[in-house]
Amino acid sequence: MKRFVLLLLVLLLIGWTYQERRVLFAYLFVLQGEGTPPELRTYPPDPGITWLDDYYTVDRIGPGTYAISEPRYHQLNFNYLITGTKRAIVFDAGPGVRNIRPIVERLTDLPITFIPSHFHYDHVGGQVSFENIAVVNLPFLRERAHDDLLRPTWSEHLGDSEGFARPEWRVSTWLDIGSDIDLGGRRLTVLYTPGHTTDSISLWDAGNSLLFSGDYLYPGHLYGFLPNSSMGHYLWSSEYLLGVIEEHTTVLGAHGLKPLNTPRQSVDALRELKWGLEAVRDGEAEATGTYPVNYQLDEDLVMIAEPRWLQSWDPPGR
Ligand SMILES: [Zn+2]
Repeated sequence: MKRFVLLLLVLLLIGWTYQERRVLFAYLFVLQGEGTPPELRTYPPDPGITWLDDYYTVDRIGPGTYAISEPRYHQLNFNYLITGTKRAIVFDAGPGVRNIRPIVERLTDLPITFIPSHFHYDHVGGQVSFENIAVVNLPFLRERAHDDLLRPTWSEHLGDSEGFARPEWRVSTWLDIGSDIDLGGRRLTVLYTPGHTTDSISLWDAGNSLLFSGDYLYPGHLYGFLPNSSMGHYLWSSEYLLGVIEEHTTVLGAHGLKPLNTPRQSVDALRELKWGLEAVRDGEAEATGTYPVNYQLDEDLVMIAEPRWLQSWDPPGR
């Protein structure tokens, strides 16, 4: 026992001084007895709710835009089907508790491309397979992909926390940052929005004033302390997005506060996020807890972060 405690202390010390200390914390968190499959939530019968596969519900947001939500899964994921006249995009596929593909194929006959907003296990659909998979073209990902085969790393995926295996993809398209995806009569722009993770993207549909923001922004607790999170990146992305998207844009995030309500936010939420982050950076925001700490950024937004002395405020690329 003594030896174990000593080993733990040594590991902590190494981890603390090492740049990747958050990976160590993530390991410790997973080892703490997590790793068990999640229990699914139940709901009282309600004729107003249509369940698909007894698991998903669908909210039609507008022509060719659907939120496919997972109210039974505790993280309340919202995945999006976005269609044009020629192609369809599935932006996130949940953790893979159920296969999302048959649900999507009920809603569209168009060829489907799957795009993960980032590589965390609750977005990449587990072992769910799509023929077409498009991934953001970032040098550190491209370097790792031999023959276009790409597997998220342990800390990019974190699926061990709930017992989800890491997938491997054959990437069919590398999405350049700032490039447009032509769906036929509809365009989506790939925006790089690191902060939650370094591989995070958002999709901007300027024609329909929609921003699909993944885990970068949604109402509730935002995660800024994970192994590849960065507060500096979070702030950088908020400035970048505010400079690019239009004022009347609706932000559609990948998690919700209420199981049956698609998380819709305005550009105001993005501004609140930016101002809140600036207050954290400048030491003007109050933190609660020890590690990680919580910052209440506004009524709906809480940033979970490392304590201030461990935060990095460098922009991406440094
Ligand atoms: Zn998530």
